[in-house]
Amino acid sequence: MMSSQVSPVKVFIRIRPTARFAHELIECPPDQQTLKVRSRKDSDKGKRNNQLSSWVFQLNGVLDNVSQEDTYDRVARSVVLGAFAGYNGTIMCFGQTGAGKTYTMTGAAETYKHRGIIPRALQEVFQEVEHRVDHTFSVHLSFLEIYNEMMVDLLSSIKKGKSLNSGVLTVIEEPGGGVSVKGLSLHLVHNEEEALNLLFEGEMNRIIGQHALNKHSSRSHCIFTIHIESRSRTLSDAKYITSKLNLVDLAGSERLSKTGSEGQVQMEAMYINKSLSFLEQVILALADSRREHVPFRQSKLTHALKDSLGGNCNTVLVANIYGEAAQIEETLSTLRFASRMKCVQTKPSINEHVDPVLQVRRLEKEIQFLKEELSMCNTLTYRVGVSNEILSERQLEEVRSQVQRYLSGLLDEIPIVSITQTQEVFAQFKKVVLEQQKKLREQIAPRNPRVEKAMNTTPSAVAEVQGSVGAVGEVDSCGYGLGLAKSSQKHQRTVSPKPSKARKDKQISRKEGAASQPPVENITVQAEQPLNLSESDMTTHEPPKQAPEQQQQQQQHPRTDSPPSKAEAFEDFKAERGSEINRILKENKAVLSERTTQLRVLTDVINTTKRDLDYITYELRQFRERKQSQGQFVSSEGEPVLEEAELSLVMQLKELKNRYRQAYEDFSSTKTEVSYCQHLVNQCRTRLLTEFERWYNESFLFPDEVLSVLETGPVRPGHIPVDKALTLMDDEEHSDGLHHKLHADSTVSFYNAYNRTLKRRGSRQVS
Ligand code: ADP
Ligand code: MG
Repeated sequence: MMSSQVSPVKVFIRIRPTARFAHELIECPPDQQTLKVRSRKDSDKGKRNNQLSSWVFQLNGVLDNVSQEDTYDRVARSVVLGAFAGYNGTIMCFGQTGAGKTYTMTGAAETYKHRGIIPRALQEVFQEVEHRVDHTFSVHLSFLEIYNEMMVDLLSSIKKGKSLNSGVLTVIEEPGGGVSVKGLSLHLVHNEEEALNLLFEGEMNRIIGQHALNKHSSRSHCIFTIHIESRSRTLSDAKYITSKLNLVDLAGSERLSKTGSEGQVQMEAMYINKSLSFLEQVILALADSRREHVPFRQSKLTHALKDSLGGNCNTVLVANIYGEAAQIEETLSTLRFASRMKCVQTKPSINEHVDPVLQVRRLEKEIQFLKEELSMCNTLTYRVGVSNEILSERQLEEVRSQVQRYLSGLLDEIPIVSITQTQEVFAQFKKVVLEQQKKLREQIAPRNPRVEKAMNTTPSAVAEVQGSVGAVGEVDSCGYGLGLAKSSQKHQRTVSPKPSKARKDKQISRKEGAASQPPVENITVQAEQPLNLSESDMTTHEPPKQAPEQQQQQQQHPRTDSPPSKAEAFEDFKAERGSEINRILKENKAVLSERTTQLRVLTDVINTTKRDLDYITYELRQFRERKQSQGQFVSSEGEPVLEEAELSLVMQLKELKNRYRQAYEDFSSTKTEVSYCQHLVNQCRTRLLTEFERWYNESFLFPDEVLSVLETGPVRPGHIPVDKALTLMDDEEHSDGLHHKLHADSTVSFYNAYNRTLKRRGSRQVS
């Protein structure tokens, strides 16, 4: 029950229309809320006292010549609608017999237009049920008659009604303060027609009872009750609202005329129907705030109307009066009752209930739902069964193991189990990172003295070392890395399991070289990459210009964690996989060297010959000029005769000219050969380096798939020429020599030149 505000009972006066209305006694001012009544004061029989007394009654409304429809609107509608909000309501008609109580409450049954409050209320109820689609309603009806302290169920003849007790009806008080009639049948009705049928059935039973008992209908009270229960379709079905509308047609309020002695004020309390007397006492008690006890239980009527009068009802009283002069005393009496009723206050409140069974069912459902949600939450966030508390040793070990497997690639992902587990995973990662950093520092530390030493040596060494120091644990920009991460997995996996002979040799030589250095350095020499391995290794047998080129190529390579230095690797490569091309390169270089020497010799020969030629020519010219001045020596036949000296000069000249021509020819062809050989050597060198790069990358830097991408597409601009060279050389990869391969235009002249060179080598001995 909700707390509520106090609300006074609303009181209306309805005047039964009559042709003999006592206008001189009853005045209805236009405000329709006031009634002025004049009456002879105490019509003492002994005295002729025509003095008039007047009373003014203030009411909630005076219904004078008001239609049934308007009466319903002004009296009943708000109460009926209030029932749909959960408020109980009571509308009762009070008044002397024939004043229009039944007319007001039930109406003239035979005329639809004159139907009263009950049929109109039923109509309104079912209209509301139709309109309020968000609720489900159940409407029950009951019809109680109280006659002479006896309660009769006017609908007991209808079998379908549910009755708590088929026998005696008793008023019982409910826990919430309300009252109900135990044993009274309640009839479920689904529509207006069903309800009206019950109303008429009850009315009929009332009349039959009248006849049987030979009672006058005005002596009984009738309470027609509409019970409404509504449940929201959208909100919790455990909560529901109930309300009841009591439509009460009271017995006639005629009084026993009590004639007292002259001058004695007539006692008013005596009604023909005793229960109305008790009703008045209850009203008086309720109206008097000083009264604590209200005698509801004195009569069945007051008891049955307990919550209508002193409870949580919206209560309306219609006081029916018969406006004829002859009835003025009863009218005054009715008006006085109505006035007192105005002082009664009720506390209308909403009857909201919680169905315990449904509530339990609903809560169980909600608990189940929440459990499922929690379970889902657990599944998503914290794996079921794993406590979110501190991890056990076993759990910690599992996390460590997972992190290790994850880092080594054995585990694709670490499942998130709980917050603490996730935190532990991060902690493990941090630990790994810190350990790695520590290792790196330890690896760097012993090298430092050497670094310092190196910095004091050569500029190139300084550059190397600085590059290395700048990128701890990585190959420096020149490719001569310190190899700090040499122990890393990748390196271990890809490095050739058995050290090559070349490397072994180099290590030995390095060791020997290191012997002259301070002992502290010796410790690190073996384990680490050589700092001074070097250009000299690569350039010893190369023309000087090769070194910068190579360095540049090496600089283009991406950094990686742990490959061996390129210089070292290059030596390995030349000794093993690249040995054939290296051999050819060496041969070609040897041929080039020979040819260059030959060319130089030929140049000398030409120059010498030319000098001799010039000298002989000069001598011969001198000789002939001298002979001309001395006269021509002629033979017997008259032919000019060459002197021996001149002949010698001429012969020398001829010899020199021949030699010169020959030398020049040789020079020209040798010069071409040198050019070709130079080309050849360059090609071989390019191939050697390219093969080395490829091998180095495959072995230490790139996974195979990356390489394949590099080869098929122009991925790295800096490497495109190398790739071209690769394609060039690939064709001869497995050939015995370079003789009969490659027919691409760019290589035809190359191999023509080479074949020519070989031919010459075979035909000439040039050293
Ligand atoms: P009560 O129930 O109070 O004894 P009734 O309702 O039986 O009085 O009314 C007595 C007669 O007066 C009926 O025939 C009824 O039709 C008529 N009557 C009462 N009030 C009105 C009214 N407001 N308009 C027309 N007829 C009325
Ligand atoms: Mg009546």
